[in-house]
Amino acid sequence: MAQKKSISTRRRFLRQSAAATGFLFAPGLIGCTSGNNNTSAEDAAPAPRRPNQDRKLGVAILGLGGYASGQIAPALQLTEHCELRGLITGSPEKLPEWQEKYNVKEANSYTYDTMDEIADNDEIDVIYVITPTATHRDFAVRAANTGKHVWCEKPMAMTAEECQDMIDACNENGVRLAIGYRMMHEPNTRKLIELTEERAYGALTGAHAYAGYGGSPPSTDNWRGQRDMGGGALYDMGVYSVNGLRYGTQMAPEAVVKATQTRQDHANAVDLTTEYTLRYPGGMLAEGKTSVVTNYNELHIEAEEGWYEMDPMQPYTGVTGETSDGKLLGPAVENQQSIQMDDDALAIMNDTEFIAPGTLGLKDVAVIQAIIESAASGQEVAIEHQG
Ligand code: NAD
Repeated sequence: MAQKKSISTRRRFLRQSAAATGFLFAPGLIGCTSGNNNTSAEDAAPAPRRPNQDRKLGVAILGLGGYASGQIAPALQLTEHCELRGLITGSPEKLPEWQEKYNVKEANSYTYDTMDEIADNDEIDVIYVITPTATHRDFAVRAANTGKHVWCEKPMAMTAEECQDMIDACNENGVRLAIGYRMMHEPNTRKLIELTEERAYGALTGAHAYAGYGGSPPSTDNWRGQRDMGGGALYDMGVYSVNGLRYGTQMAPEAVVKATQTRQDHANAVDLTTEYTLRYPGGMLAEGKTSVVTNYNELHIEAEEGWYEMDPMQPYTGVTGETSDGKLLGPAVENQQSIQMDDDALAIMNDTEFIAPGTLGLKDVAVIQAIIESAASGQEVAIEHQG
């Protein structure tokens, strides 16, 4: 055991050194680490989407639940730069079916008890944490300590402090941390972001983001119905509205002006609906609402000379939008998650910025915390960690 630890420690040291020098991967990649290179004016063209190499990142999924089985594992089959090579679960009885379906080796299959041994498995480059939100911090820190890059589902964690622990663990281990914000990779959403960046309709004057689904209140038997596990409208769906207002306005909010939350009447009850108003530097306001009992789904940006919006803004399929002068932000793309994972794989391979790094996930969780505080106190609350 002592020997295993020293191997892992040495491996981690090598990875940290590699990350520090940029030589993180095999020789085929060395010519392509474009992120921090100096570029002359002539070759400032957009980086090619495909690097000149044939290596794929080996991804291990941690948490074989609904999103992993319904979306991420199938989407991995559609990626160009990733391969589903590993499984980590607390329910080992799930492994045979997953191994057979996705051709994953027994040697690349782990339980929560054995997952630290993945440090010695060179076939795995990334651990993708897809478990209930309240477990993200601990799993992500353990994943980082194995020397693997970490992808983590939204919302990043329960508090900004937990998010910071995850960022620190990744930095200490010389690995990268991305959040599974699929909308930020979705091509039509990116067209909307471009309109904001270009101020195509003049200065922004307001915005709203609504993300909710109709149905019965979540069962208290499931983590989605348990407040302390990260269940409820605001963490589960509201993070899309908070994040949508951020990418839609390209601005950081300074305060929650007011907020309300409705919840059932028991100790660990989740919010069923949350509504909030954010204020930005300069005074612009934005409205957000989210629900697990009411259906709505749109992101709308108002500007001095027009408006533009995504409607719907965040389902797995069908995301499209339009502008006040009749342009279509479409057509809907086939698979958001495969685009997300390819983007994140390329960012690792080419040593470039993630579209949605851990530092961004932390900012959104800080907004969520301020909304909760404002709803509880009935007061305006300043939002921290937005710098
Ligand atoms: P799920 O309940 O279907 O699956 C959760 C998995 O985590 C299960 O395999 C469960 O066994 C495991 N787990 C580990 N520790 C656990 C614990 N302490 N309690 C309960 N389960 C535990 O949930 P899901 O829908 O797959 O969601 C998982 C994560 O993915 C959440 O953070 C959620 O917000 C996120 N998610 C993201 C999207 C998206 O579109 N990006 C969609 C759905 C879910």
